[in-house]
Amino acid sequence: MSYKLPVPHPGTHTRPFWEGTKEGKLMLPKCGDCNRVHWYPRHICPFCHSDNISWVEGSGEGTIYSYAVQHLAFGPWAEEAPYVTAYVDLKEGDRMLTVLRGVDPEKPEDIAIGAKVAVEFEAASDDVHIPFWRVVEGD
Ligand SMILES: [Zn+2]
Repeated sequence: MSYKLPVPHPGTHTRPFWEGTKEGKLMLPKCGDCNRVHWYPRHICPFCHSDNISWVEGSGEGTIYSYAVQHLAFGPWAEEAPYVTAYVDLKEGDRMLTVLRGVDPEKPEDIAIGAKVAVEFEAASDDVHIPFWRVVEGD
């Protein structure tokens, strides 16, 4: 493997998410009581406190809510700087933090709030594939 960035360790309550990423699916936790998708995975719904959580396959589509250019980073991420992080509004609801791809960190003025993004997955190890989001359309 050539992946040099930190690799997450899937826990029991995030395992459905990580199993999905290996199949190219963005699995999202959804509350069976209020029917809202939430991110990140939790044992109880952050909106209504129900523990009736199941997993649904997301569309992998979203829009940029906000972004920031990271000029300083630590550890393995230091070699990646500058790079762009963003909050993505998921089509299904709630918001996901990501490293944004398909953008030039030297030209942040070209990054549009509301631009459409799509998820993609990178194999960090045999067991962990990490989702990143890429701009697919201007605004
Ligand atoms: Zn709920």
